[in-house]
Amino acid sequence: MSTNNFKWTNYHSHTQYSDGKGAAELYAKSAIDNQMYAYGFSCHSPVPFNSGWNMKYENLLEYIDTIKQLKKKYSAQIKIFLGMEIDYIKNITGIKNFAHLNLDYTIGGIHFLGFLETGRAWDYDGGKPLYEKGLNELFQGDIKRLVKYYYQQVNDMVVNEQPDIIAHLDLIKKYNKGNYFFDETEKWYRNLVFESLELIAKSNSIVEINTRGVLKGLDQEFYPSNFIIDQCKKLNIKVCMSADTHHPKDVMALLPDVRTLLSEKGFKEVFIFDEQGWHPIQI
Ligand SMILES: [Zn+2]
Ligand SMILES: [Zn+2]
Repeated sequence: MSTNNFKWTNYHSHTQYSDGKGAAELYAKSAIDNQMYAYGFSCHSPVPFNSGWNMKYENLLEYIDTIKQLKKKYSAQIKIFLGMEIDYIKNITGIKNFAHLNLDYTIGGIHFLGFLETGRAWDYDGGKPLYEKGLNELFQGDIKRLVKYYYQQVNDMVVNEQPDIIAHLDLIKKYNKGNYFFDETEKWYRNLVFESLELIAKSNSIVEINTRGVLKGLDQEFYPSNFIIDQCKKLNIKVCMSADTHHPKDVMALLPDVRTLLSEKGFKEVFIFDEQGWHPIQI
């Protein structure tokens, strides 16, 4: 693992178009300051209901235009790419709904798991009280049912929608620090995860190692947890590094730690995206 010449990349990044802080250009500049090889923008896709943090449909074209302009403006310094973190919600929206935009790449993520009694779409990752509310209202407090439902949505997305990157594969553990809701070492949980990984291994999708939860102090392990990363290695699943950036100062947040972890676990390569498409580079 040589520290020089490694091509640092991050394709998971939000700006003020969705729930990030500040203009896209500030992120591009920060990525250049950090001597990154490539940087990708992935604001949250619009959804057909009110959400506090998805991009608005009316801003979509402006977002695309802004990133394309940055791509040109900074082409001598960095490779900039246009992506989107697209919400997969069964029978409502998914990757295919945005195929006409010809994005450079797609990140598929599951943030909504139904609708609360008030009619609000349930973004289970919107805080622990909200997580508990949905768990009780939609799954009668049965955490196994909730977790199973979550991984079923992951499976549906992998099989039917083929995103380039699968966002934070085990985000359902977001508020599970100290095994608050369930025990990640239990067999029922591992079986669900391993079932999803079998499908991912047969697909073309890449699993991101996402540093956001650790950066925010929510967990000691990244998304996904170490046992899942180990299984990715066993199944030869492709991985990439993601900072899930929401502030220009965080374009590289904890990515060196991801590199160290993958290297310690025996990974030989990570996937990056450039004009050649997705391809592996040595760690
Ligand atoms: Zn996300
Ligand atoms: Zn994100």
